Amino acid sequence: MSIALALKRVTKRFGGLIATDDISVEVKKGEIFSIIGPNGAGKSTLFNCISGLYKVSQGSVWLNGEEITGANPHAIARKGLSRTFQNLELFSKMTTMENLMLGRHLYMKTNFWNLPTMLWEKGPAAKDEIKHREKVEQIIDLLDLQSVRNRYTSQLPYGQQKIVELGRALAAEPSVLLLDEPAAGLNLEEKDELVFWINDIRRLFDITILVIEHNMGLVTSISDRIMALNFGRSIVTGKPEAVIKHPEVVKAYLG
Ligand code: ADP
Ligand code: MG
Repeated sequence: MSIALALKRVTKRFGGLIATDDISVEVKKGEIFSIIGPNGAGKSTLFNCISGLYKVSQGSVWLNGEEITGANPHAIARKGLSRTFQNLELFSKMTTMENLMLGRHLYMKTNFWNLPTMLWEKGPAAKDEIKHREKVEQIIDLLDLQSVRNRYTSQLPYGQQKIVELGRALAAEPSVLLLDEPAAGLNLEEKDELVFWINDIRRLFDITILVIEHNMGLVTSISDRIMALNFGRSIVTGKPEAVIKHPEVVKAYLG
């Protein structure tokens, strides 16, 4: 089976602190792969190393068989990697629709900010624009965002803002999607919806999903495999049932 994402001995240091320590893993195409671990374990740092926000101190990162170590975030996004952030990174002065269109912007030949002119001219760029809108409409339907499509994201409840951010990442049609604590701050009903959507996204799109998550119930229900980190090191990687019973995982979570 082919490998969507590979980390080879990835280490990230901040001065004397080793945030991620010699992490190696291969995530298969189509897998839902989760990363768990206590606060400060190095989970977000690992995502930042993958998406190019941080340069790795040592080791290498591979996306669909191609080395992306040291590439900038934009270049990596163009190669098919999208992500969400632990803390929301939406444009609050934009509507839901505009935030999702921004996710498409990677694909647009013309600058996003020229859209009004493009539409006026009805040239080839305008045809592209219609295609982009259709894709965004599909995501709006999928994530049940119809009722808030024209509302500023700053006016939406937190849970819904997180879904918009998920939608924006999906709008880029990634082959690999990184979700950093997608369920944090969601109520129970929203968490159930999220599980439903993640499964739906996998069923509908040709996609590999990595999830950082604290909620063990959620993680075990959606993941094919889980990697547990502690103090930047990988403790164990395997099937959910095995990982949650691993003595070091139990210890890391219970104190
Ligand atoms: P997690 O997401 O597992 O809670 P992080 O990856 O955010 O953990 O952080 C791992 C460690 O790396 C922490 O000790 C954190 O303070 C440190 N760290 C993360 N980013 C930076 C940074 N930009 N500069 C300095 N230290 C950082
Ligand atoms: Mg984090």
